Amino acid sequence: MPVTVVGSIAFDAVTTPLGSRDHMLGGSAVHFALAASFFDTVHVVGPVGDDFGQEEYDVLAARAVRTDDIERVAGQTFFWRGEYGWDLNERRTLDTQLGVFADFVPKLSEESAAADLLFLANIQPDLQRAVRERCRRARFVALDSMNYWIENARDSLIETIGVVDCVMLNDSELRELTGEPNLVRAARQIREWGPRLVVAKQGQYGAAMISQDGFFALPAFPLETVVDPTGAGDCFAGGFIGYLAAHSGAEADQDLFARAMAYGTAMASFNVEEFGVERLTHLTGDEIAHRVAELQRITQFSDRPVALRT
Ligand code: AMP
Repeated sequence: MPVTVVGSIAFDAVTTPLGSRDHMLGGSAVHFALAASFFDTVHVVGPVGDDFGQEEYDVLAARAVRTDDIERVAGQTFFWRGEYGWDLNERRTLDTQLGVFADFVPKLSEESAAADLLFLANIQPDLQRAVRERCRRARFVALDSMNYWIENARDSLIETIGVVDCVMLNDSELRELTGEPNLVRAARQIREWGPRLVVAKQGQYGAAMISQDGFFALPAFPLETVVDPTGAGDCFAGGFIGYLAAHSGAEADQDLFARAMAYGTAMASFNVEEFGVERLTHLTGDEIAHRVAELQRITQFSDRPVALRT
């Protein structure tokens, strides 16, 4: 089933303890789309400036990502510069130049609007809601956001959360949005606003999912070397939603969502192995399958109960 993503298309400059890049393809919609492209057809909706060239389109085309709804506008493509220290869960934004992203109003073709699954990446919540309303056929809609919108457009964000199925935020955003330090309670609050699923992204510690059927969590895949965490959250979402897209007939129950968590975890783990989207451009389906199997192996144990002293 086709997937549509609406979000930023960017040039990123990133410094991590293992190196730096000055000008590379990035943006939440791009990371998501490349990850989800391993599972199904993906339509990208977002703006680019006239500095966005054939080389960038080719990266998306090589993974058969549908770029018809990438809107070309006179001006500069969104630019983000960030820096990571040795704690890769902490990042500093050094520069954000909105460029053509500042006046972005998503325009969806009939084809993008007809997608069955929709990911509303981090954009202004009113725009997210307008896109959600346009995609009437969407059977599963997930949303990401950021601290800026929690602080500056909280009411609109909560209204938008009310019309999606799944909220995917990181731990600190969930706490800030709900004013609730406890994750289980924060998720309950969000579910009371409407969504049936809350996914808490926890960076190098993995991700947790809370629904009416309970709690499920996976660690991040244990890598020896993490080069650049940028886009891990969007690739997680791409793997998660891509997996759902590829299982259109399946019952949308806790087991399906747990498996989607595993594919999200795997996609995020590949993404951080190299800078930007570099790793995804030479990733194979076999590598993904192998990593998910490995993740399954390392997260299982068989209990042999002992007589416990009371
Ligand atoms: P993540 O690491 O999953 O949070 O996503 C990182 C991506 O988000 C980068 O490629 C940036 O280009 C993009 N990004 C950074 N700041 C913003 C922003 N304010 N709005 C939209 N996208 C952003």
